[in-house]
Amino acid sequence: MLSVLEYAVMHLKVKHVIVCGHYGCGGVKAAMGNNDFNQILNMWLRVIKDVYRHNRGELEAIEDIDERADRLVELNVREQAEKLCKTSIIQRAWKDRQGPEIHGWVYGLKDGKLKEIINIKPGETVIDPIYVYDNI
Ligand SMILES: [Zn+2]
Repeated sequence: MLSVLEYAVMHLKVKHVIVCGHYGCGGVKAAMGNNDFNQILNMWLRVIKDVYRHNRGELEAIEDIDERADRLVELNVREQAEKLCKTSIIQRAWKDRQGPEIHGWVYGLKDGKLKEIINIKPGETVIDPIYVYDNI
């Protein structure tokens, strides 16, 4: 993913990067369970489990399991969009050319609609300062 991000941002100079999840995601539902898949898949799902853990209170207040999973889809998209801002690739591009904009969206398979979850403009401070590189 990082090689694709670097090529798109540094060389193609894309103006927008979109992180897009989808409602009804089986991967997110799997992350909410306790099934062992294989170590590679477990590692992917663990990232989503971390988002669940950080938002446990909000999520467990949602009774319906499918609704809870859909909310986790949204929270995960936000987390992954913010995570892009922690990369030196994005931070360098923001410094050099004030781009790209980072978008977090969720696609609804049932209605074909995209929901915007987060929109991060270059230089916006959505991440903790500990992640900001000052020698870029
Ligand atoms: Zn999915």
